[in-house]
Amino acid sequence: MKILVPVKRVIDSNVKVRVKSDGSGVDLANVKMSMNPFDEIAVEEAVRIKERGEATEIIAISIGGVKAQDTLRTALAMGADRAILVKTDATVEPLSVAKILKSVVETEKPDLVIMGKQAIDDDCNQTGQMLAGLLGWPQGTFASKIALAGDKVKVTREVDGGLETLLLSRPAVITTDLRLNEPRYASLPNIMKAKKKAIDETTAETLGVDIKPRLKIISVTEPKGRVAGIKVDSAAILVEKLKNEAGVL
Ligand code: AMP
Repeated sequence: MKILVPVKRVIDSNVKVRVKSDGSGVDLANVKMSMNPFDEIAVEEAVRIKERGEATEIIAISIGGVKAQDTLRTALAMGADRAILVKTDATVEPLSVAKILKSVVETEKPDLVIMGKQAIDDDCNQTGQMLAGLLGWPQGTFASKIALAGDKVKVTREVDGGLETLLLSRPAVITTDLRLNEPRYASLPNIMKAKKKAIDETTAETLGVDIKPRLKIISVTEPKGRVAGIKVDSAAILVEKLKNEAGVL
């Protein structure tokens, strides 16, 4: 049983994001980059499935520049067996990522694709759903629990008002939510071992995928600064302010 885990290199979640002065995007110069947190959860889940003896191989894949190798090395140090880098310096939109993943799925033939529900840089939350659609595979999105059951997979999802459990036929695409697990830190010996694991390189052109953007970013702006709150002495003053100053009552 093979598991394919797409991992994206994104701006680190602890970095204060700054918008470029010309409003064309986010400033990435000298900024710490890391694996997308939802993808770390996906790698962790794949490794746990393998540790339970239910999977034989985990392949990590990233679409990005040469630095995406670092992200793949992290996945390898966490327990992935090998990795694929689809090298490009272009911005690759979710539909193109999904088409690239579809092409790799067709050659690698994994039983499961476990990936993040969203990348924290574009917040698109589209790629997993698009991949399942292109492949015609079942999808379990926002998984908070994954359990293999024979040739099926049970996916629990947190939905409004409770939990929904789906039984999917395999192969399937699963996207991870925050509460699925807590990803491990790679140990030093595993980081050293990961250096010896293979990273194959290919390109979108080799895979026959046109990654020309279909969307145009018109502008990127910082959120408006928030004014400081105030304390009031009584409920009566609060109601008066909500009515007359905030205009919400
Ligand atoms: P998105 O639809 O952009 O929010 O991304 C959802 C998920 O798709 C991410 O959590 C990753 O698992 C995967 N993904 C998106 N872009 C890439 C990429 N460039 N390389 C590898 N995986 C990606």
